[in-house]
Amino acid sequence: MKTVVKPVDAQAIAEAAQIIRAGGLVGMPTETVYGLGADALNPQAVRSIFAAKDRPADNPLIVHVSSLEEIAPLVREIPEAATLLMEAFWPGPMTLILPKADCVSDAVSAGLDTVGIRMPASDAARALIRAAGTPIAAPSANRSGKPSPTTAQHVFEDMDGRIPMILDDGECEVGVESSVIDATGETPIILRPGGITPEMVKAVLGSCEVDEHVMSPLKEGELVRSPGMKHKHYSPEAKTVIYEGGAQQVIEAIAAHYDEAERMGEKPCILGFDEHDFGTRNKLSLGSEKEPREAAKRLFAALRELDERGETLALCEAVEPTGIGLAVMNRMGRAAGFDLRRV
Ligand code: AMP
Ligand code: MG
Repeated sequence: MKTVVKPVDAQAIAEAAQIIRAGGLVGMPTETVYGLGADALNPQAVRSIFAAKDRPADNPLIVHVSSLEEIAPLVREIPEAATLLMEAFWPGPMTLILPKADCVSDAVSAGLDTVGIRMPASDAARALIRAAGTPIAAPSANRSGKPSPTTAQHVFEDMDGRIPMILDDGECEVGVESSVIDATGETPIILRPGGITPEMVKAVLGSCEVDEHVMSPLKEGELVRSPGMKHKHYSPEAKTVIYEGGAQQVIEAIAAHYDEAERMGEKPCILGFDEHDFGTRNKLSLGSEKEPREAAKRLFAALRELDERGETLALCEAVEPTGIGLAVMNRMGRAAGFDLRRV
């Protein structure tokens, strides 16, 4: 199959919508990361997403809608807290887990009694959903085990020959996947941190829990609230280590580790902030330390770049785990197998 990449315009959206309606797959932009979209109400189409990604069948998909009216048929009820979150943060980078209605197939929910729903802020994504006339199920458009794609080029690298079309809307604004919030109980729980932060949820509801597995690895046989938590996430070929502490201590510890590794014949690379000077050492930028949103936007592209360059050791500066920084530390932590060193 030939994969074409088309810049977003009315014609390309119409073509992509036609592919979705016919049961095909489209690489689609959203403000979080690029998605691999199919008609959420067509189980056959949904199953082909899992095949294209090599995604484990027990990891459910998020259903994307373009308006609030599309939600009622997909769920059994909408708790009050969920309504408040929708009003506050949709369209935007937040997925709500709700009790699912029968029209949502097991192919989407991976057999669970719930469904994740999101209304993306990306105009292109909502235009595609509207044009297709059906909600779109879409996981991140990477092959399973690779970092999520934040450009159409990343999608092409992973999906060339596997899908007919990719819509190109440039670099993703947020850069990490949506916040996943379990809204089925009394107190909403953040299962995966993202662009809608615990602080933002707390400001709306007065309280917000964060699942303990956001910053810690799973123990053998432990039960999880979200299947995605138990799947091995992307870790670069390079051994990855995170340093946290005062800026000066972190810079010195990373520089020392780097020099020692180089003497041992390794190919080290630093993922660090613009303000921090590592001399002539090999470095990929996480942006300014004052702008954790930049780190979120750049992290996945930097992790892809590491592997392309054949680096064998990645030394990362930690971000403060508050606000969007929690999402950055969750993704960085998983890439590093939570090897976090305090200095
Ligand atoms: P992705 O689409 O690749 O960003 O992954 C979707 C994430 O949402 C995964 O971590 C899933 O485990 C999680 N998710 C989707 N649906 C549900 C659900 N019904 N219950 C709990 N977690 C879910
Ligand atoms: Mg994913």
